[in-house]
Amino acid sequence: VSQIPPHGPERRLLPRWAAPRAAEAAPEPVVVLSSREAADLALLGMGAYTPLTGFMDHDTYRGVLREMQAAPGVLWPIPITLAVHPVLADQLSPGTTARLALPSGRVLGRIRVQDRFRPNLLEECSAVYGTCDPSHPGVAATLRQPPVYIGGPVEVWDLGPVYDRYRHLCWWPAEARAVFETYGWETVAAFQTRNPMHRSHEFLAKCALMLTDGLFIHQVLGELKSDDLPADVRVRAVDALVRHYFPENRVVQAGYPIAMRYAGPREAVLHAIIRQNYGATHLIVGRDHAGVGRFYGPYDAQAIFRQLPKGSLAIQPLCFDEAFYCRRCDGMTVARTCPHDPAERDHISGTELRRRLRDGLPISPHISRPEVVAVLRAALGEPVTPPPAV
Ligand SMILES: [Zn+2]
Repeated sequence: VSQIPPHGPERRLLPRWAAPRAAEAAPEPVVVLSSREAADLALLGMGAYTPLTGFMDHDTYRGVLREMQAAPGVLWPIPITLAVHPVLADQLSPGTTARLALPSGRVLGRIRVQDRFRPNLLEECSAVYGTCDPSHPGVAATLRQPPVYIGGPVEVWDLGPVYDRYRHLCWWPAEARAVFETYGWETVAAFQTRNPMHRSHEFLAKCALMLTDGLFIHQVLGELKSDDLPADVRVRAVDALVRHYFPENRVVQAGYPIAMRYAGPREAVLHAIIRQNYGATHLIVGRDHAGVGRFYGPYDAQAIFRQLPKGSLAIQPLCFDEAFYCRRCDGMTVARTCPHDPAERDHISGTELRRRLRDGLPISPHISRPEVVAVLRAALGEPVTPPPAV
């Protein structure tokens, strides 16, 4: 089968994986990574950030903020940066190398420093997040960083604790492409989730699966908001849904160690690029994709795809309205197709759904499949396993 090419001019995956080298004669400085930087390093290592080869230099960074381009004609929406303390930065002149490590001391790889610069963090926030309001979690994380960035190509030796813990789910882009090839899928819709799939998610996924050969359910395994469910539970709930309600051999589930930035529209474009690298031809973009609070309009993340230069992205967004069960329609539907009064809808908020799960209250099969609810209730009765130490 013919597959969609990876993103970028070279049209081939660029994993930055390398076997760890024996210790150098001269000790190298060590840069301690934040959890977001460590997740970015793992994605570089696997080739999910193709065509990037490392953390961005000043020119690339500026191009991404101002033009959404990592190089002329190469779409890239979000800077991939490495922040260091000024005292350490003094030792990292261009041409030097440094080890990249977790706070625990575990070394994940190395950077060859090409550039060292002071970013304008307010410009970065306003370009990426559309706001400098520190109550936005992405803005707060950006402004908390040390004030110097270093850029240069990386070698990745170790994909880190999230990968260790979820190795069975953390497919590399090349592995996902091999699976799609085995199934003979030419078109694949990717569905990103950090939730279990309820009826509304199932409906959108099935709408996509009417158009494509396969469905690629891709769980977020990195750092999440505190009220998100642990990945193991989400994966079991999705497995139960797929087993009972999807055709055999049309759906696969995997995960990836991305750290959510909650950058709304620009993050939706990043998710699309990553999925293209994984071999998906379509990305399901729902209401308020990668949004947080009230910082973005519900369909901003869909609108941005219509504004991109033609030909800058091979993967196609599949933009959907919010789905719900309508009693008059007697089925799942969306506002675009249902003419009935909102009072006819069976619809509850995520917060209300969590409350009902926790308190053992009934949940309508119009909201979530009983097999999914059973998995979630069983999990809520168990002690929650702590996330991996970073
Ligand atoms: Zn209706």
